[in-house]
Amino acid sequence: MAEDFDCDEPFIYRLNDNGSGPSLLIKVCAERGWRMYQGYSSNEERWNLWWRSSAFPAACYKTLGDWQFMNHIPKGGSICRKDSLSRLLRCMRRIYGSIYDFSPPCFHLPLEYAKFVSECSRLRRSEDGSSNVVWIHKPVAQSQGRGIFLFRSVCEMRCGSAAVVQRYIERPLLIAGYKFDLRLYVCVPGYRPLTAYMYAEGLARFGTDKYTLTDIHNPYRHLTNSSLNKTGPRYAECKDRIGSGCKWTLKQVRRALVGRWGAAEWLVWQRVRALVSLTLLAQAAGTPPARNCFEFYGFDVLLDDSLKPWLLEVNLSPALAADCEADVIVKQPMLHELFDLLGLPMRHTGLSYLQGPPTNINSSEDESGVAKVPAPAPPPPGRRGARWRRRAVPLHCVTIQAPMTDKYNVDTTEKTKDIQVGRLYKTSSEVSTDTSDTQSSSSVATPSSEPADETWRGGYATAASRKKMMSACVWGNGVRWDKSTGRVGQWVKIYPHTLSNDDHLAVEDARESVAHISKFIRAAREVARDGRAARAPRDGSRDAGFEAALRKKLDYGPQFQVWLPPF
Ligand code: ADP
Repeated sequence: MAEDFDCDEPFIYRLNDNGSGPSLLIKVCAERGWRMYQGYSSNEERWNLWWRSSAFPAACYKTLGDWQFMNHIPKGGSICRKDSLSRLLRCMRRIYGSIYDFSPPCFHLPLEYAKFVSECSRLRRSEDGSSNVVWIHKPVAQSQGRGIFLFRSVCEMRCGSAAVVQRYIERPLLIAGYKFDLRLYVCVPGYRPLTAYMYAEGLARFGTDKYTLTDIHNPYRHLTNSSLNKTGPRYAECKDRIGSGCKWTLKQVRRALVGRWGAAEWLVWQRVRALVSLTLLAQAAGTPPARNCFEFYGFDVLLDDSLKPWLLEVNLSPALAADCEADVIVKQPMLHELFDLLGLPMRHTGLSYLQGPPTNINSSEDESGVAKVPAPAPPPPGRRGARWRRRAVPLHCVTIQAPMTDKYNVDTTEKTKDIQVGRLYKTSSEVSTDTSDTQSSSSVATPSSEPADETWRGGYATAASRKKMMSACVWGNGVRWDKSTGRVGQWVKIYPHTLSNDDHLAVEDARESVAHISKFIRAAREVARDGRAARAPRDGSRDAGFEAALRKKLDYGPQFQVWLPPF
């Protein structure tokens, strides 16, 4: 295998099924010196990264080569449908109790219509003033605020396609009278065992009319989707404190909150971290081990006026459009560092020579991350497109940054050494005939015509399932997720909190995982309480002290990283 390795082969990225994709993603790939895939019509197998907005057909996972990567994990999207997310969280709440109390009560229509009606009558009968609660109706299969409406009485509800009806968070945290929610970026390179990173920066998305419950039918007051608000009458207006547009970075949010909330502001980010890990755990058991696959999620979280975080939804393909300055500040470095985290190469090709398309500030990409118009990369100015695309990228240097630590006595097997020097891709004939150990052990999804491989369902109980999980932790580019570092750029490992000291795969069941997160959140609460008592400064200067206190309380080693947006 090693002698076939050709260092001059460019890294090839493939977008969806027709080459269309977010302009920012195309720009970042070009900046890394990657070449755009050209074989859409022939379904050519020479690619290294396939980025798709929707899930992959099961067969694609089976034929994945050592140097091929895909941006979805089989069954990794269960938390991304509103109804199945609520089912999973409901189930976890039943088992683990109030720690899972971060999702608003929810009914699935039409199935739970009767239950919903009886809940409404119960609330009407109750004396505690909850008879006038507001509900939000959200179609299951839609996004970007489409089909969403608010109502108080069942008679106002319009029934149509499958939907969820959720208790509306009536008292959201406001900044200058405007409602906002948070968009957090999460990368999961493996569910078995769960490994999750969250990006320290993110976005806040504002409604563009001031929030009030006296008018529940104005979407610009109540819905924070930017695809909706950017068409609103007050989008461009310079609004009190918020400014024009409808997006902030998390850094701006922190600065707006810390003066008023002090230590509680620090604690809310720790609660957000716990919420994200607990949500991922809810689907971890139903997800097979998958090598060279990752999920890149957008978590939408709303803070209420007591700073409690609520999970609104999880997006499978978060928007990568660059609509405004905040988008560019957050998303461009986030994508570069995502690829660094995954150990995908950066080729220093001389960017003036290899310019990708300019970032399209008025991109037509919608919020689900799907560009409306297929947009293959335009040629750089002054060059003929076809020639540019055909041209092999000159390679001066390849840096593969595997986020792996050697100091933990990593027993790198012969197999791993082999695959670290493997070729960048396979030819189509090899894809169909490959029967190498690594390949077969990483095949996790089965085309529907073949019997499903269910060995992973044995958890860690059988030697075969354990071997399968172990092999999924070691990617074809040499990255070992069971030994991965706590931080790459601003990507911070949020789960697991520590590494095991031996070289065996950490065996942890969901109960233990929830217990770890519960311990973490208890310790964070204590740190915030102590900080309040000691009158810690109400700015970012106290972050390092809180971090040290949390580390000490948890007694975790240097691998443990505190996730906190920049200040
Ligand atoms: P979509 O997939 O259409 O974006 P979301 O669930 O994200 O649907 O809801 C759209 C917007 O509606 C959110 O950004 C948020 O502002 C608001 N929203 C959704 N659910 C709630 C809720 N339970 N309480 C308060 N606001 C909500």
